[in-house]
Amino acid sequence: MRKLIVLSASCFLIASAGAFDAGQPPPKPANIKSIHPPNPSVPGSSSASAKEGKEGKPAAGAKGTAGKPAKLSAREQEEQAEAELSAKIAERLAAMRANQAARAAAAAKAKKDAAARAAKLAAMPPPRANGTHWAYEGEFGPANWSKINSDWAKCGSGNRQSPIDIRDGMKVDLEQINFDYRPSAFSVQDNGHTVQVTVGGGNFLSVQNRMYELQQFHFHRPSEERINGKGFEMVIHLVHKDADGRLAVLALLLERGKPQPAIQTVWNHLPLEKRDIAMPSVVLDPNDLLPQRRDYFTYMGSLTTPPCTEGVLWLVMKEPVQASPAQMALFSRLYPLNARPIQAGSGRMIKESN
Ligand SMILES: [Zn+2]
Repeated sequence: MRKLIVLSASCFLIASAGAFDAGQPPPKPANIKSIHPPNPSVPGSSSASAKEGKEGKPAAGAKGTAGKPAKLSAREQEEQAEAELSAKIAERLAAMRANQAARAAAAAKAKKDAAARAAKLAAMPPPRANGTHWAYEGEFGPANWSKINSDWAKCGSGNRQSPIDIRDGMKVDLEQINFDYRPSAFSVQDNGHTVQVTVGGGNFLSVQNRMYELQQFHFHRPSEERINGKGFEMVIHLVHKDADGRLAVLALLLERGKPQPAIQTVWNHLPLEKRDIAMPSVVLDPNDLLPQRRDYFTYMGSLTTPPCTEGVLWLVMKEPVQASPAQMALFSRLYPLNARPIQAGSGRMIKESN
């Protein structure tokens, strides 16, 4: 009887062991061995359960225990499937990590290469620009002149540029400009930027102990320079050069009034085609362009067209010269706008006649 109770108890214990975690072998009371000796045909049947979960194989010895076989086998299959799935997931994860690492390495290399290329480019000197086309508006306009041609850098970086708004001049006893102009042969050309009149040699102006020879004069509309903020309808620039190559530009502001005979002579001989040069048989006297009064403003500036060369002596006559509305209208048909915008004064000294 006592034997039977111990047997039932052990059977219960073994049966309930099936409910234990798959990874843990069911606990066995020490006395079970003495009641159920290991089956000689199945060696190590008692330790078979301990192998479960490790090898994932059904333990043959389990059959020897009543009510157990089917339950254990299903669990083992489940465990095997789980193990296989875990292995696959681990394998897949490893592959993904390897891919990610490879991609990250490739991206890092590409970034490094790009940085190296950028550094190499930055170390190289910028390519020299050598454009020649410029205009008064748009892509080739004044704001971009300095970028069109490397030799025109001053148009952007200079601090003695023209035109300027002439104001706060120092009133002093400026010496008179001495004009030595005479009737001269001339040619007329529409050069694509203005109407330019090239004058024969022998026309001089003297100022500050220097003698400058008139080279050419041309027109802008509206006037490039301003006087105390006031602009004029047009301006004539008479460009002079001394023996050392220094430039002096005399500016004659134009206002509406009576017809100007010298301007009319120029208009009369305008060539029909741009860039054609007309060489009239008549003469032109530059004296006819000058105003009555000879007071003037003076400051150091630049050419107002590329290459914007600095070191130009500017002489701006205070009294405007009159031209008729018809004469101005004629020019505006060719050049409605050919004036560079006002440039920074940058603290330049301006002198003016008392
Ligand atoms: Zn000019």
